[in-house]
Amino acid sequence: MEPWEWSEDVWRAKVDKVRAGRSLKPARWKDGARCAVALSFDSDHETNELRDGGQSIGRLSQGQYGNRVGVPRIRDVLARNGVKASFFVPAVCALLYPDEQRGLVAEGHEVALHGWIHELNTKVPADKERELHLRAADTLEKITGVRPVGMRTPSWDFSDVTLQIERELGLLYDSSLMADDDPYEIVEEGQPTGIVELPVEWIRDDAVYFNMNRFQALRPYTPPTDVLDIFKREFDRAYAEGGLFLLTMHPHVSGYRSRIFILEELIAHIKAHDDVWFATHADIAAYVKDAAG
Ligand SMILES: [Zn+2]
Repeated sequence: MEPWEWSEDVWRAKVDKVRAGRSLKPARWKDGARCAVALSFDSDHETNELRDGGQSIGRLSQGQYGNRVGVPRIRDVLARNGVKASFFVPAVCALLYPDEQRGLVAEGHEVALHGWIHELNTKVPADKERELHLRAADTLEKITGVRPVGMRTPSWDFSDVTLQIERELGLLYDSSLMADDDPYEIVEEGQPTGIVELPVEWIRDDAVYFNMNRFQALRPYTPPTDVLDIFKREFDRAYAEGGLFLLTMHPHVSGYRSRIFILEELIAHIKAHDDVWFATHADIAAYVKDAAG
């Protein structure tokens, strides 16, 4: 049936499947801060190539760059600034680079779920999706010693059963949906779930501005200085509104010599403001859930 022929109950059911419920934006952030900053890095590394069934040696080498150069450079910037962040790691990357994950946790960063091999949830059968997320959670826990409490779905691709699996896993938060700038409670078919959404947006994602494919004509390239400008503006308004600034970056995208300044200058810009709380996604989700009661 074509969409214009759907009855009202059909299109309402689609819209109501997974929805933003009550806002969880607190009156004040931790210790009276007026703005919260959640920096995240999706350590996709080689899985961007593997998840499509690819075996390009060249693109796999770009993925390895994420581990060899990108993550160390990012860790250095975070350490020099005393900033804790969240790293969303496909289980296959954690198995390829267990020392990277252990090192991050040892430095106070969060390592959280990002699928098994960066698979698209909507392309995986429901029972298989469940098995993969459960196996990924066990894998991250085994490697880091910490049970993950949050998930960012690979490519922010959310299937009909993803939320049920997150509930079964007892997750504190998801960070894959886009219904607000500030945290909210996810509602499933009209029922509050208790799961905190820390919303993402493609606007606050480095990959969309920089990615290119040698064998496609598309070159969606934005100058790094323009990307920094967009991120600063997102922060400035979040600060003015007393909200959350959440940013997604990728070690294999922003770890380069000509781009790492974006992270450095952004942190310097943010630190020039009073009363900003830098925290991991897990800490922010726990805070807003507690503050909302
Ligand atoms: Zn990813």
